[in-house]
Amino acid sequence: MMNIPFNVPPSTGREAECLAQAMANRKLCGDGPFTHRCHEWLEKKTGTAKALLTTSGTSALEMAALLCDVQPGDEVILPSYTFVSTADAFVQRGATMVYVDIRPDTMNIDETKIEAAVTDKTRVICVVHYAGVSCEMDTILDIARRHNLKVVEDAAQGVMSEYKGRPLGAMGDVGCYSFHETKNYTMGEGGAVLVNHPEQVEQAEIFREKGTNRSRFIRGQVDKYTWVDYGASYLPSELNAAYLWPQLEDADKINNDRMRIWERYFEALSPLAEAGLIELPFIPEECTHNAHMFYIKCADLEERTALIAFLKERSIYSAFHYIPLHTAPAGLRFGRFHGEDVYTTRESERLTRLPLYYGLTEEDQNTVIAAVKEFFHFS
Ligand SMILES: *Cc1c(COP(=O)(O)O)cnc(C)c1O
Repeated sequence: MMNIPFNVPPSTGREAECLAQAMANRKLCGDGPFTHRCHEWLEKKTGTAKALLTTSGTSALEMAALLCDVQPGDEVILPSYTFVSTADAFVQRGATMVYVDIRPDTMNIDETKIEAAVTDKTRVICVVHYAGVSCEMDTILDIARRHNLKVVEDAAQGVMSEYKGRPLGAMGDVGCYSFHETKNYTMGEGGAVLVNHPEQVEQAEIFREKGTNRSRFIRGQVDKYTWVDYGASYLPSELNAAYLWPQLEDADKINNDRMRIWERYFEALSPLAEAGLIELPFIPEECTHNAHMFYIKCADLEERTALIAFLKERSIYSAFHYIPLHTAPAGLRFGRFHGEDVYTTRESERLTRLPLYYGLTEEDQNTVIAAVKEFFHFS
């Protein structure tokens, strides 16, 4: 029997050609022609003041923490149900994490529980648009405005998604994308930061270029470059950008294919949900998503463990995540949970992600669907 992997990195077939072109240019360091094309594409797509490719989604989040001028002792409100980098970027600046419970329907931070977690030390609300489905941004932006807080969007999974017609990552002060190979568009390891305030663009370029004004120098705006602030090396090689570029060119095609697969899962598994055997993802009316993932929810941890093992015996690879941050050693050390963990742990233990990638065949998808039905004795 053939393996059905959990993920296959997207490929358009033109990556090798673009890599060869980048190599022929004999300029492999960052900010070459492919990087510029990616920047322009992202800026046009999102309307942000400046998009900058980074070496990862994690480094985009680190840049966001720098741009928000997070200081030791500041508090950052975020969900506990997220990848570690959402917190780590701020922890590195000495901030304390304040975890807020999620909504069970979207697995996003519960916007109705944020305001109670605000203290006079709160500096940032960092939202995570889980599965490329937007958080309730109007409410969150309003809380931030009233309390004078920054909003960082961890939109690592949200490229091509929208909330009320606004692109994810372009609504807060800073947005962060990931182009890791498990995301919808990839450069192996990589990401992008969306600098949504024009007055922060120059500062962002300096943080990304080791604290120097090299970007201005390259544009001929200064006659030599120098050390002007702190920073790190957050810009990726031109080779990585060359790999990403053809996928951005084909973004609609890739997105449509993923959406078709997502809809097919949803339709095929709806009868199981109607029978009360599983729960399916919920997409709020305001949200246009990008089919970043398809998950189902089992009754509990025991049933999920059995389902993943059952699928694996049939060479179908599914995955679960995340271990809530407030239950991890570092998560406890660097933060606290505000209020009660009603849904974070419970819902995270029930969730299983099914194989979903660009190019997943109908035949393989049918095999997955049949196996899920078999597990639940549903015919
Ligand atoms: C993937 C991901 C990240 C990290 O991105 P990398 O490119 O792997 O560093 C951060 N947050 C979320 C929600 C993610 O899904």
